[in-house]
Amino acid sequence: MSDVNRAALFFEPGKPFEIVELKIPEPKTGGLTLKITRSNICGSELHIWRGDGRFSEIATPKGRILGHEATGRIHALGDGVSTDWSGKPIKEGDRLAYQYFQPCGRCRSCTRGMTEACRSSFLIQRGSMHEWPYARGSFSNYLYLHPNQAIFKVPDNVTDTMVVGANCALAQVIMGIERVNVSLGDTVVIQGCGGLGVYACAVAKERGAETVIAIDGIQERLDLAKEMGADHTINLNEITDSRARVKAVKDLTNGWGADVVVEVVGFAAVINEGLRMMGSGGRYLEMGTFYTGTSFECDPGRLVGQNQRFEAVASYDAVSLQRAIEFLSRNAERLPLDEVVVDYPLDDIDSAFADQDSGSVRRASLIMS
Ligand SMILES: [Zn+2]
Ligand SMILES: [Zn+2]
Repeated sequence: MSDVNRAALFFEPGKPFEIVELKIPEPKTGGLTLKITRSNICGSELHIWRGDGRFSEIATPKGRILGHEATGRIHALGDGVSTDWSGKPIKEGDRLAYQYFQPCGRCRSCTRGMTEACRSSFLIQRGSMHEWPYARGSFSNYLYLHPNQAIFKVPDNVTDTMVVGANCALAQVIMGIERVNVSLGDTVVIQGCGGLGVYACAVAKERGAETVIAIDGIQERLDLAKEMGADHTINLNEITDSRARVKAVKDLTNGWGADVVVEVVGFAAVINEGLRMMGSGGRYLEMGTFYTGTSFECDPGRLVGQNQRFEAVASYDAVSLQRAIEFLSRNAERLPLDEVVVDYPLDDIDSAFADQDSGSVRRASLIMS
């Protein structure tokens, strides 16, 4: 469709995006150029757009191209690239899911097998849009993928609408739910039913959770959480008191409390309530609040006395992305996976952000080509 690289430039909170035209990057050895088909607005971009916490430092008068939760087709392959990271042959036109960051492979975290904690991962997102590879975010028609960014071919039964959330929200959920080892018979509370939350309901259920309880303030989000596997829902507008919500969770778990509580709201204020919902031996998974500069109340005596754990997961490793694609393919005909996102043209990016911010859409998905 487009042979120019149109990209949406972000300047600062409260200012509209500006559409600019950039060059299309030529691929170098080992890399490839992706023609982006869809790019979602991730919760982290909402934080940037609002100027939450230290995310306000990302704003620059020169403008920056955001976007990372995306999918696309191979536009051009660099020399030496003939397969994805599972060994499947790839060619121009094939659909790909890609790791949006590039672990360095040689820092202390990477050598210990924790590539998700590599602090050099995001270096590829820095640089001038006037220098190769131009756009470093997926709110652009063409994005360059570096040699060490994991790529996986998308199976035919997984639509673009289903796969667009795989390389951030779903892969992170899969890594997180595995980190807290959700197992057969577990009771799981999901705080927040945005993109991550509804995926978390489905993944927890697939790992054998006996009871999944989803919490949110918007009924439509809770309805989708149910369709994705939640057994019970708690509407914040119906049970407005925090203590009453903790009691509701206790009542639904035979007075014990949850084995696992997952925070995917994105505000530190909800963590204390989630901690109080945990039972003895419970595991708390923190994923939503990934900007610094806030805090939450915690009674450490409760954690110690009840042998509870607190885990936090930001991004994911390559195998979690592979598992995300396999999860989508396995469940494509069973779960409403294509209902997680709502479509917007790129030119409507400002209203897409405003609508997602207000909660009227769970996850906005920009159609890029
Ligand atoms: Zn993201
Ligand atoms: Zn590293």
